[in-house]
Amino acid sequence: MKIHEYQAKELLAAEGAAIPRGVVANAVAQAQRAFDDFGGKPVVLKAQVHAGGRGKGHFKDSGKTFGGVKYVTTREDVGTVAEVMFNYPLVTKQTGDQGQRVSKVLVQVAADIEREIYLGMVLDRTLGVPVMMACAEGGVEIEEVAARAPEKILKAAVEPSAGLQPFQSRRLAYELGFKGGQVPAAEKIMHALSKVFLGKDCSLAEVNPLVVTPGGEVLALDAKMNFDDNALFRHPDVRAMRDEAEEDPGELRAARANLNFIRLSGNIGCLVNGAGLAMSTMDIIKYHGGEPANFLDVGGGVTAEGAIEAFRIILQDAKVKSILVNIFGGIAKCDLIAEALVKAGREVGFKVPVVVRLEGTNVDKAREILASVRGELPMIQTAANLTEAAQKAVAAVR
Ligand code: GDP
Ligand code: MG
Repeated sequence: MKIHEYQAKELLAAEGAAIPRGVVANAVAQAQRAFDDFGGKPVVLKAQVHAGGRGKGHFKDSGKTFGGVKYVTTREDVGTVAEVMFNYPLVTKQTGDQGQRVSKVLVQVAADIEREIYLGMVLDRTLGVPVMMACAEGGVEIEEVAARAPEKILKAAVEPSAGLQPFQSRRLAYELGFKGGQVPAAEKIMHALSKVFLGKDCSLAEVNPLVVTPGGEVLALDAKMNFDDNALFRHPDVRAMRDEAEEDPGELRAARANLNFIRLSGNIGCLVNGAGLAMSTMDIIKYHGGEPANFLDVGGGVTAEGAIEAFRIILQDAKVKSILVNIFGGIAKCDLIAEALVKAGREVGFKVPVVVRLEGTNVDKAREILASVRGELPMIQTAANLTEAAQKAVAAVR
């Protein structure tokens, strides 16, 4: 699960990190009021969407060139910029072409910036512990630095039961070139980041940029956090920060039915049981020249109602031009899937070919069910094995 920048900053501030003053506005007038309340000082208007790269984005069809982070100095400009932010979808590298609607704008007192630094924490799968990463070249995309000059990224492995140690934060602060009073100020942000990451079960937490002002103040200017969904049950405060408007409606609907649905960019829908089977199904689709539009994993213990809902979700995706159903019947029996397929076909109607490969428990019963509806649901095609299934699904979109 992801949260907004303003929420991530609140979590950091609660652990002692210095953040700029800011107010979240839901409407243009509120943004202008915030500007007045801050005494008419320059502010930065920041569109709150879960996607990153807002600064370099643009508002689709607005005719304006600014992105989701805009420095403004007058009340009038606060009005015109906020008007655009609330009314046009924000397109960034991470949103896709359709963009993301903005319903909240953070009005933040603008900071003068002398230096921008990157600070982040992720799980290092090789070391098997979280690592804090820091880079003197902040603000820009860290992936770019990692590719161009990986030696510029400083790292500290954090023992999860002990947290970030003072000697580690001190070393990072010195290596980043902080001087005098900036050292403890930067360390405070590092410890806040580590505490939130470990305490709230984050999978990623970033402050990018952490800035130094000409006056020597050290601030967390931007923050981003992702949480481990499997640990959300023990963090009601984090769950309360969920903004469903930011999430994919298909993925949300699937989550409610205990299904795993992931949207991708191709045009072949995949309905499978098990994550491993999902991966190999997508591999074989690609091997035969196709591109998956999504995968929906119904899991092991799927019910009849769950399986029907799975078909409804896949059929709703307008990009899907054919569907590959690949089920290895174990706990989820083949006949249950076949029945769900027939029921879904009768309920919503299949407008695209549905290629079915079933194997395992009760497969004979399932084949009988599918054979009995051949005249009624002609879009259903069966395949004897996975290769044939993938070839048919790919041929159907050509
Ligand atoms: P992102 O593009 O979604 O990562 O949004 P950020 O909040 O990181 O802002 C992008 C960039 O805008 C920063 O790296 C800064 O260069 C600039 N920026 C953001 N806030 C301020 C501010 O208060 N003052 C100034 N001068 N620049 C800012
Ligand atoms: Mg940023």
